[in-house]
Amino acid sequence: MHELSLIIPCYNEEQALPFLYKAICEVTDIMSEQKFEFIFVNDGSEDKTLDIIKNLSVKDKRIRYISFSRNFGKEAAMYAGLEAANGDFMVIMDADMQDPPNLLPEMYGYVKKGEYDSVATRRVTREGEPPIRSFFAKQFYKIINKISSLDIVDGARDFRLMSCQMAEAILSMKEYNRFSKGIYGWVGFKTKWLPFKNIERVAGETKWSFWKLFLYSLEGIVGFSTTPLAIASILGLIFCIVSFSFIVYIIVKTIIFNNPVAGWPSLACIILFISGIQLFCMGIIGQYLSKTYLETKGRPIYIIKETERMNSSKKMKRKKYIKSI
Ligand code: UDP
Ligand code: MG
Repeated sequence: MHELSLIIPCYNEEQALPFLYKAICEVTDIMSEQKFEFIFVNDGSEDKTLDIIKNLSVKDKRIRYISFSRNFGKEAAMYAGLEAANGDFMVIMDADMQDPPNLLPEMYGYVKKGEYDSVATRRVTREGEPPIRSFFAKQFYKIINKISSLDIVDGARDFRLMSCQMAEAILSMKEYNRFSKGIYGWVGFKTKWLPFKNIERVAGETKWSFWKLFLYSLEGIVGFSTTPLAIASILGLIFCIVSFSFIVYIIVKTIIFNNPVAGWPSLACIILFISGIQLFCMGIIGQYLSKTYLETKGRPIYIIKETERMNSSKKMKRKKYIKSI
């Protein structure tokens, strides 16, 4: 018998949670030989998510929860869940049923014999997603696979079952700017990929705006590739060569043909173009610098406001309690 820890990041999921709880209970009934713990991570929800989780935890002793002091993002929620989990296997699952809980028995089937360390999932369709979002997502996967040593499958989800050993490896990567899809690939371990058809969220709305996704993709690129920095230097080199050839051309034209190149419009265009490129390259360097700056501060990835353990023994000292999670 194994114990499985289901980690569920929740941000404003009051509408989806009842459906999810019902679905995971059905699955755990099927897998009745295994022990389960459910870790709901409330990522600073502004709706009744925490109340719903608390009510569920009173009813069902398998439920534990961690509630953040504010919204720290899904990456932080997943990290906190992995830190808190005690199982032999950990499962990260969205609260909106887009990660179908009924895949769990099949996923567990692959790891229980020790054949695989992890079972990951990927959507093979993107039905129901705005076409522009799908287009940019596809381009992002193409770019990141080209410029980094990672191999991220298109449509890869965070929905994944992994051994506690792999979870430990992920936890040892304590970076503040987290990009899980890259981290999973970076730590290695033998992974089985399960494809499934996209499912629309059962209730509520997506928390990822286009802008948020764009920033997240930058996180991935800056976190796992230094190619943009190399591109900046190569661009600089190309422009040096071009400008040097141009200088030679002008000198030759002036001395031999006594015909200096006239006109400031061309000059203005060149200056604007070159300064654009310079700012672009400085922006790239700035991205790396800003991430380094945040990393050096060594801030915690998340801050907890309460958990079910805190409720059961209120006198616990804060530090002691954080350690006990
Ligand atoms: N989520 C979170 N913190 C956030 C945003 C999202 O914990 O700041 C959770 C959310 O509750 C859900 C999962 O991450 O369980 C995926 O979010 P969502 O469904 O909005 O993303 P999408 O499926 O549209 O990519
Ligand atoms: Mg979703």
